[in-house]
Amino acid sequence: MNPDRLTCEAFLRSLDSLVSGAASWIEGRRAAAHVTVCGTCAAGYMFELTIDREIRAKLATIEAPRDLTRRVRALLASCAGAENPEDWRMS
Ligand SMILES: [Zn+2]
Repeated sequence: MNPDRLTCEAFLRSLDSLVSGAASWIEGRRAAAHVTVCGTCAAGYMFELTIDREIRAKLATIEAPRDLTRRVRALLASCAGAENPEDWRMS
């Protein structure tokens, strides 16, 4: 077996990073090679990609609360002096 070739199991483990675009170039190349020879994984990839696009499209239609930016900035300002990440809690 070619060590550069993915198994279906390895492909499925990398599916999230592939769909989100977080996969490395080499992971993408290996995955692309795998889906050219494995219809099951190709179908799974297309399904996940479709779901991801539909969710992103629906989320884009949701308006953020008006004061979200102000609240995030206030929270970041209050955390700026905290040296310990455990102190980065909303009060
Ligand atoms: Zn496969």
